[in-house]
Amino acid sequence: MQMEATKVIEFELPQMDVGSSCTAAAWARVPDAPSAAEKLRLKTRIKQLLHEKKAVLVAHYYVDAELQDLAEETGGCVSDSLEMARFGRDHAAQTLIVAGVKFMGETAKILSPEKTILMPDLDATCSLDLGCPSDEFAAFCDAHPDRTVVVYANTSAAVKARADWMVTSSIGLDIVAHLHAQGKKILWAPDKHLGGYIQQKTGADMLLWQGSCLVHDEFKGVELDLLKAEYPHAKILVHPESPAAVVALADMVGSTSQMIHAAMTMDAQEFIVATDNGILHKMQMAAPDKRFIVAPTAGNSATCKSCAHCPWMAMNGLANLLYALETGSGEIIVDPSVGKKAKLCIDRMLDFAAAKKANVRPSSDLAQEQKLFSGIGPA
Ligand code: SF4
Repeated sequence: MQMEATKVIEFELPQMDVGSSCTAAAWARVPDAPSAAEKLRLKTRIKQLLHEKKAVLVAHYYVDAELQDLAEETGGCVSDSLEMARFGRDHAAQTLIVAGVKFMGETAKILSPEKTILMPDLDATCSLDLGCPSDEFAAFCDAHPDRTVVVYANTSAAVKARADWMVTSSIGLDIVAHLHAQGKKILWAPDKHLGGYIQQKTGADMLLWQGSCLVHDEFKGVELDLLKAEYPHAKILVHPESPAAVVALADMVGSTSQMIHAAMTMDAQEFIVATDNGILHKMQMAAPDKRFIVAPTAGNSATCKSCAHCPWMAMNGLANLLYALETGSGEIIVDPSVGKKAKLCIDRMLDFAAAKKANVRPSSDLAQEQKLFSGIGPA
């Protein structure tokens, strides 16, 4: 087994200037909450234009609750990035409005190249995507030609085009285990925490790119332990982009879809949730009688840049969504040759997920049901 640190991307530290200004720029672009009257006006006009333009809104669990509700009210969907792309691909609409971050818009475009994909703000990105530039990643791959390249969904189209497999946070473990059983050595990018978690679970030989999610990286094991002492009956739900010390305390580790499912089905009334706090809206709707507490990002070692909320997800608002619909701005463009290559690694995963689902019988057992959710959930 080989574990190598190849490139340290702390994102904010020590590259303070680059990282801080980057996050600050994102927070500066987060729209102010509109007044109740303005909100009503914006929502009414968006609904009208979605109808007139035969467009559909797909939103991620981490965006503002107003956008999540609007997507569902208008026949769109609220989900994780892969399901957003699959929904968009299978929907009759020729225009998809993607409320999320750029790699989600790109994945939608890769799966539906003939459709128009618009986003409220094209500068809404992701620290994992930013931390894995395609040219440096290509050089990394070139230096390790003996390895099967597996990338997380949170990467650019150009990085996906260089990969053999794309995976999501739920099916990544199964795919790496499958490749490991075939004797393959893995080159993994970009999330070091998710990669480390999968490596530890599968025992696979994985060379890890050292990227991280700005939001999940800030959850603290020590403080989570202290919070658990305050809520001894609470179950801890953790997304595997979190640091190992946080994952070690989890009652359940899984993707966003799996976490919502666990909140509904686990036998507990209180949950501590280690992922972006945008997910609480859907969790509370799915389990209205239960209590959800955000995992701590504070403490002695705190550097809180996000406080459990992604600044890039927060850039999506009603006003910029309406502007994109009215003007056609914020269109996602993917070079067709890059998109064609990138689609191969996505299709490989989709085929693997479909075959896996076909082999799992429905069961009332939670572990089995969580497996049914496999393949449906990146961040
Ligand atoms: S929450 Fe993390 S992984 Fe998701 S878009 Fe934001 S920075 Fe990227």
